[in-house]
Amino acid sequence: IARSATELVGDLNPQQAQAVQYRGQALLIGAGAGSGKTRVLTRRIAWILTQFGAWPSQILAITFTNKAAAEMRERLSALIGPVAEHMWVSTFHSACVRILRRDGKAIGLNSGFSIYDTADCERLVKLIAADLNIDVKRYTPRAILTRISDYKNNLKSWQSQLKTYAPDYRPGQRGYQIGNFGDIEVLYSIVYAEYQHRLAAANAVDFDDLIGRTVELLRTQPDVAAYYRHKFRYILVDEYQDTNHAQYVLVRELAGVDEHNAAGQSALAASGAPAAPVQMSQQPAWITVVGDSDQSIYAFRGADIRNIQDFERDFPGAKTIMLEQNYRSTQTILDAANAVIANNQGRKPKKLWTALGKGDPIIGYAADNAQQEAAWIAGEIARIHVEEGVAYSDIAIMYRANAQSRSLEEALINAGLPYQLVGGTKFYERREIKDAIAYLQAIVNPADNVNMRRILNVPKRGLGPRAESIIVAWSDARGTTFWNGVDHLDEIEGVPTRTAKQLAAFRDLMRELSAFAAEHDAKPSEIVAEVLQRTGLLGELQCSEDPQDASRVENLSQLQSVAAEFEQNTPDATLAGFLETTALVADSDQLPSENEDSGKVTMMTLHTAKGLEYPVVFLTGMEQGTFPHSRAMEDASELSEERRLAYVGITRAKRRLYVTRAAVRAQWGQANEMMPSQFLDEIPDTLIDWKRRETGMERMRGGWSNNSFDDEFGGWDDSDTTTFGGSSYGSSRSYGSRSSYGSGSSYGSYGGSSYSSGSSGSSRR
Ligand code: ATP
Ligand code: MG
Repeated sequence: IARSATELVGDLNPQQAQAVQYRGQALLIGAGAGSGKTRVLTRRIAWILTQFGAWPSQILAITFTNKAAAEMRERLSALIGPVAEHMWVSTFHSACVRILRRDGKAIGLNSGFSIYDTADCERLVKLIAADLNIDVKRYTPRAILTRISDYKNNLKSWQSQLKTYAPDYRPGQRGYQIGNFGDIEVLYSIVYAEYQHRLAAANAVDFDDLIGRTVELLRTQPDVAAYYRHKFRYILVDEYQDTNHAQYVLVRELAGVDEHNAAGQSALAASGAPAAPVQMSQQPAWITVVGDSDQSIYAFRGADIRNIQDFERDFPGAKTIMLEQNYRSTQTILDAANAVIANNQGRKPKKLWTALGKGDPIIGYAADNAQQEAAWIAGEIARIHVEEGVAYSDIAIMYRANAQSRSLEEALINAGLPYQLVGGTKFYERREIKDAIAYLQAIVNPADNVNMRRILNVPKRGLGPRAESIIVAWSDARGTTFWNGVDHLDEIEGVPTRTAKQLAAFRDLMRELSAFAAEHDAKPSEIVAEVLQRTGLLGELQCSEDPQDASRVENLSQLQSVAAEFEQNTPDATLAGFLETTALVADSDQLPSENEDSGKVTMMTLHTAKGLEYPVVFLTGMEQGTFPHSRAMEDASELSEERRLAYVGITRAKRRLYVTRAAVRAQWGQANEMMPSQFLDEIPDTLIDWKRRETGMERMRGGWSNNSFDDEFGGWDDSDTTTFGGSSYGSSRSYGSRSSYGSGSSYGSYGGSSYSSGSSGSSRR
């Protein structure tokens, strides 16, 4: 389906259209939230294909989540037809997996490599810590991994770390004593080196390695680099503000910009040289990046805001196009967002405007405690559903931290409202799922020591730490894998008879399973079924009396369904391919895609909400210490990042925004009094219609703001009074009972009784 030019840009504004059509080596579309950046990026891909005459295989498009990738691919299919299905539209991580599976061999990665998740990595660090006598109470695996991740995001190799801090350490060396590390870098560097050594031995990578090792591949293997530079003539990256240094370098390497005189080339291109892709193979690829420096919210994962700020310097001759019209939100919502973000230092001011008009005021509510906040939200959702006909799926509740979801969930359940929680459940982190996956992983990659050791005694078969250490000693001494040890069991001396028998049974089980996987050309779902049955994982749980085990059985059966679904959507589905999708799944991927109506309210963290939009958004927990997070309040740069997160949150709303807070919130089992978030103060007063501005307690103390709180009872629209239950909880009468605010019991009931269903709400009118 070759789309005509007018079809691709006809409904865009002039800046958007210019961005779609721009001919030149480097283009930055830097613009505020909701200005159509993602839409323009998608259209530009279609434009490149249909108007520049590029082939689908010449395009690499990077999105921030798998879900965003799937959506972009879907839209491209609609614009240009089914060729879009085979295009490289993916996250950085998925693209790198694809590259490493194909070409990783050149740097020692066999194509069946395992991808370790956080839990696997922690396991590995614990094993290392034990061998090096490191006190994990003092140096937690998590802290060590954070540091290792930092090194990787900044492309600091373990070799260079060792050279600087521990030049006499050889990875794999036994009996090394770190001593009392005067410099903590010594410890981190040694663990880093050892960690990489063991990952390599296990033919495994962690998430950061996916990027880092791909960069290594491109930098050290000129022929591989040449292949990809020849292949990808157009590279497009969404959410560029959240790239880290390694990803930035990856883009440059793939594009081949450092290989050439970038300035000269782009000047040539910009002067109108034809962009016939086939003849361009000597030039660097054309790069388009899209982002908003005000929405950079992943610094804690190494994202570097300078990547977008310095784009013009990094890519000389780059063109910048600003989009100023917001198509998503009302003016009220934009004004709030603009006012909040204006408090950040050192940013370029942006003008964002909308043609959508002022719209509804922002609605504010101050609750006595978290339970009441949640109950009020549930009540309000029920109300707007019934009275205003708002679909549940048009509503999102957002919060700073996952822990806040519990009281919100309870309230929605009490009120009988359908909802979906994004990210909280972590299906793939459940123990039984991880066990099953560990088996699958070990089948695909027997060198995977972490997973092989994990399943040695799962389900229990009498192979404890003693048995494990016998194998480890044998295989370590020979510099080989754990599995090789098991496999050569007969050559190991001094194994107690019973242990030998059990080990042989485990060895035979694994041999049978891999034979099953290989011989029958078995589908992933069949292999999953075989593993669940043959290993006894399922049997153990089915026999159990523990009610929790019943739900574990369900989870395992769901794993099998996921595999079956994967087969249906993937031609030539392999077990390795299936494991890849399970390893790279992110929170936001659980969201239904845009054109299916879930019929449910969505609950998620602010981080997960990036790039999404909803007609109605509740921003909850707007308190100092909750949001901004307590960790960030002392540190100017972290506070700026929290503010950007607030900006992201506010700009998710299309038509109506709610801001709520609780005066008391339980943290670490203690009821703490919470001050209102400074971000609330930063929203101009005139934009917020407070349904309740202060709690009874705050009022008795003289209030938190110098504003009179008349509006709490009379200041808002009369028509709302009845529906908001002005009589039931807006009046001063009820304050008496609220002095016991810690209990929450007095509110538990009203969430259920007054608002349990829409009909009771409307009958009160
Ligand atoms: P964010 O910064 O949150 O990622 P964005 O800049 O990527 O936002 P989009 O998600 O592309 O913005 O667009 C926001 C909304 O505006 C979408 O619903 C999109 O379809 C709509 N939109 C963008 N441009 C236009 C246009 N020219 N005409 C009509 N609607 C548009
Ligand atoms: Mg976007």
